[in-house]
Amino acid sequence: MDVPFLNLQDVNARYADELKVAAARVIDSGWYVLGEELAAFEHEFADYCGVRHAVGVGNGLDALSLILRGYKELGAIEEGDEVIVPGNTFIASFLAITENRLVPVPVEPDPVTFNMDPAGVAAAIGPRTRAIMAVHLYGKLADMSALAALARRHNLLLIEDAAQAHGAISDGRKAGAFGDAAAFSFFPAKNLGALGDGGAVVTGNTMLAERIAALRNYGSAVKYQHLYRGLNSRLDEIQAAMLRVKLKYLDADIAWRRRVARRYREGIRHPQIRLPIVVREEQHVWHLFVIRCPRRDALQRHLQAHGVQSQVHYPVPPHRQLAYAVLRNAHLPLTERLHDEVLSLPMGPTLSDDAVERVIEACQAFECSS
Ligand SMILES: *Cc1c(COP(=O)(O)O)cnc(C)c1O
Repeated sequence: MDVPFLNLQDVNARYADELKVAAARVIDSGWYVLGEELAAFEHEFADYCGVRHAVGVGNGLDALSLILRGYKELGAIEEGDEVIVPGNTFIASFLAITENRLVPVPVEPDPVTFNMDPAGVAAAIGPRTRAIMAVHLYGKLADMSALAALARRHNLLLIEDAAQAHGAISDGRKAGAFGDAAAFSFFPAKNLGALGDGGAVVTGNTMLAERIAALRNYGSAVKYQHLYRGLNSRLDEIQAAMLRVKLKYLDADIAWRRRVARRYREGIRHPQIRLPIVVREEQHVWHLFVIRCPRRDALQRHLQAHGVQSQVHYPVPPHRQLAYAVLRNAHLPLTERLHDEVLSLPMGPTLSDDAVERVIEACQAFECSS
């Protein structure tokens, strides 16, 4: 049998009994949207992140988008303003910006960490810049102290796309607690995954949290009174109940991911494979274990032939997508090279030691010249 990239059936089977009890509780309650499960999860997740407020929404893209929308309602951002964003990110980071009629300004990553390069961000700040959107790509925290210093100096908002980084820590602070606001995704494959779509905004800003709580519910805080032209993007009671179960095990899952990553980093020694670099273990929650290889496609075929599944995150950067033809001329050579070289190895909280060993052996057997 192949080593799967990620087996969600195994991931959730571990808690199946608890999940079923929680689902039954919601089914029997007769209350399915904006109820006690959501309120409890928002409380528990805010606590987990060490941030005052969490607002559950429909998915991670909406969480990001609603942060920007909330700041528009607060008068901190206007249409046409610029948001600095990593060129090498999942397209949702860009979509949230353009959905709000703001302008994404993509910057090149740090060549070692793949994360936002503060020097590149500083160079991209202009008169219309209002926000920096940091992405904790692959589960590794961006350089938040440098980015926070820049944001302070230039009076910019600092927003975290923490969709891949639940639980990552730096200086005792967790992902979501560094910026003015942060977006999380609970898509099933994320480190904290629901059994369907889900997302949350966390923020210490009470006014922003109130705006977003209204915006997700037709722009209404009191039934049939509409302060804003909102949308419908809520975290269902049943998903909140699933997430309350899974949140309890998140730290144990992260510990297992770190163990897998440690074994990969000790076991894979190949002249054509570059391993991810980690300075402090706690800063990385290994949503993805991403290696670089100049002959990436050949390596992926080789792994497949040896029964090891792998994926590419991501094959085409946003500025090279048809949807962003307007950014076609952006000069991002490093971003483009990364997209040609990256490969994600199997990673997850249920990946067995034997499976990890098979992945390492398959990597080591990759011929240098074939
Ligand atoms: C998954 C992801 C999103 C979007 O989350 P959804 O819940 O799928 O909408 C946004 N940004 C990043 C970096 C992601 O990995």
